[in-house]
Amino acid sequence: MIIILKNGATEEQVAHVVERIEAMGLQAHLSKGTYRTVIGVIGDEEKIRSAPLMAIPGVEEAVPVLPAFKLASREAHPQSTIVEVGSGKTITKIGGGHFGMIAGPCAIESAERLDEIAGSIKASGANILRGGAYKPRTSPYAFQGLGEEGLKILRDVGRKHGLPTVTEAIDPRHVELIAEYTDMIQLGARNMQNFVLLTEVGKTGKPVLMKRGMAATVKDLLMSAEYVIASGSMQVVLCERGIKGIDNACRNMLDIAAVAQVQLMSHLPIIVDPSHATGRPEIIPSCALAAAASGADGIHIEVHNCPEDAMSDGPQALLPEQYATLAAQIRKVAAVVGKTF
Ligand code: PEP
Ligand code: MN
Repeated sequence: MIIILKNGATEEQVAHVVERIEAMGLQAHLSKGTYRTVIGVIGDEEKIRSAPLMAIPGVEEAVPVLPAFKLASREAHPQSTIVEVGSGKTITKIGGGHFGMIAGPCAIESAERLDEIAGSIKASGANILRGGAYKPRTSPYAFQGLGEEGLKILRDVGRKHGLPTVTEAIDPRHVELIAEYTDMIQLGARNMQNFVLLTEVGKTGKPVLMKRGMAATVKDLLMSAEYVIASGSMQVVLCERGIKGIDNACRNMLDIAAVAQVQLMSHLPIIVDPSHATGRPEIIPSCALAAAASGADGIHIEVHNCPEDAMSDGPQALLPEQYATLAAQIRKVAAVVGKTF
């Protein structure tokens, strides 16, 4: 931590700051310039990070040297993390050059429907099946998901097609049950800062798909990943899924720069979800290809065999044949930037 004192800070104020630093078990290294005094704090930064340093008279600014998301940072862990989803013969790797192709309906609606969708996306090259059993809906009257029945369907369909599965947890009380049925647990945009939920999910040790909140910065996203890692699971895949923008032509605004930004700041894989980012099937393919070209570690797409009948997010679903065309293009683009499948 570097503490910059105000121009004109008195000798007493400087001495008081040093006293506070030493009282926290750290050492202060003073550097007196013509206009300002700067104090370098030596020792474990965590001891001082949450102290209200700016409240000490004479302090202008306190600048941390290390990122607060220590476990998620690339600085502490230079090697890219490879997340393994599934078990036995059905393991999908994401990160470190391995590309994840997550696809499936927004919600699990019936065994027959999920089976048909899973068969088609698998044939197109998808390597993880998604489907929500608990849906975070804006309206309390909208379809909320099939719950445990949905989890059973997802597990059985995933097994039948040899696809690892991912499903969302929205309530800490469901986490244990969800962990029994699925290979990866999704933390949705609306829950990215539900810290109790993050901790419960981390404790399962399962791989986690963490979506960026719609009003969250990249740093906020990494701080949320830090919660999951600190509570037990290093297997975190981040997901850019669009943030609030000024234009309402699309559902959200895809922040493609977040991909490279995360890859510089963190060792965790980052994938892109153009379905929720745009909400528009005619725009999803372009955004998916841009994401693959940007070096994303995977693409997440919602696919439905009858969007007009879908119980959730039907208007943004790609048809299986549209997904087939797009998946083939994604593979070509991702290969150009060195990804393997
Ligand atoms: C979803 O994946 O269906 C979903 C609700 O995503 P998000 O949290 O990104 O809105
Ligand atoms: Mn959805």
